[in-house]
Amino acid sequence: MTDQLVGFIGVGRMGGPMASRLLDAGYRLCIYDVSAEATAPFAARGAQLAASPAEVASSADIVLVSLPTPDIVRQVALGGNAGVINGSKVRLMIDLSTTGPGVATEVAAKLAERRIGWVDAPVSGGVTGAKAGTLAVMVSCPQKTLGEIEPILKTFGKTFYTGDKPGLAQTAKLANNLLAGAALVATSEVMAMGVKAGLDAKVLIDIINASSGRNSATQDKFPRAILPGTFDFGFATGLSYKDVRLCVDEAEALGVPMVVGAAVREMLAVTKARFGADSDFTSVAKLLEEWAGVKIRA
Ligand code: NAD
Repeated sequence: MTDQLVGFIGVGRMGGPMASRLLDAGYRLCIYDVSAEATAPFAARGAQLAASPAEVASSADIVLVSLPTPDIVRQVALGGNAGVINGSKVRLMIDLSTTGPGVATEVAAKLAERRIGWVDAPVSGGVTGAKAGTLAVMVSCPQKTLGEIEPILKTFGKTFYTGDKPGLAQTAKLANNLLAGAALVATSEVMAMGVKAGLDAKVLIDIINASSGRNSATQDKFPRAILPGTFDFGFATGLSYKDVRLCVDEAEALGVPMVVGAAVREMLAVTKARFGADSDFTSVAKLLEEWAGVKIRA
């Protein structure tokens, strides 16, 4: 058990359970989130509540963030007088969000001018993995920083070190999320076709899961959130679109054509336009249901 105080900014669907696991492991927390609803359970468990990112960074030397978009990470890190960069105590900022290599590179350089270290540590495994501590945590930072922060990151799951270049772990995360999005889109298409042809949705999923087409959508998203019609997997369409867009942008910047990636990005853009950024990203299947005129249900 440790009683180290760490800062945590952004305690939403992912950050909430991760911060909760830190409390369970004995860490003390200083928390900031723009949503009072998100911070309330932590106040009830004795966490210190801060009024700004800078206040968190004046209480704790290590500050973790789990925030929605690159712009918000930039704002929380560098923004005005209230950013993490203005904290009096902070030595290290760890970004658990999926924000892409661009903002990681930019923010790392600005923080370095103030002798504040940067770690990108995006995670995969969803809300279930965040609660269970079984996330894949992709890390880029100097090797000696890794030794210091690994006990914290291991509270969330298994760490994968990618090197010391800021943004490298973010690139790994974008690669994974484009694939997860592609699996969801392609599975929605074949499921709509199968059901329209007269196949039972549950039987078709069982067949695919015992065959060579199985993937993260057939094994997890369809059984859990689409076949029961709950569409509550726990990841917003707007965030999934953001990840795939960042991935295709990064590929373009590197001169790597992504034909399938661009199609996946556009399917998520259409889903976002139809059902809203806050809808669950499993709503991709609802789009196919509308186009095919069927319901993909168990
Ligand atoms: P979320 O919207 O549930 O949580 C984000 C939290 O940040 C919210 O509590 C929100 O109030 C807070 N916030 C927003 N702006 C803020 C600001 N300026 N200052 C302080 N707090 C602010 O999102 P999430 O699903 O938890 O995702 C967080 C990050 O993790 C995203 O980058 C996402 O892409 C990534 N991610 C999500 C999942 C998932 O399955 N949900 C999985 C892996 C990675």
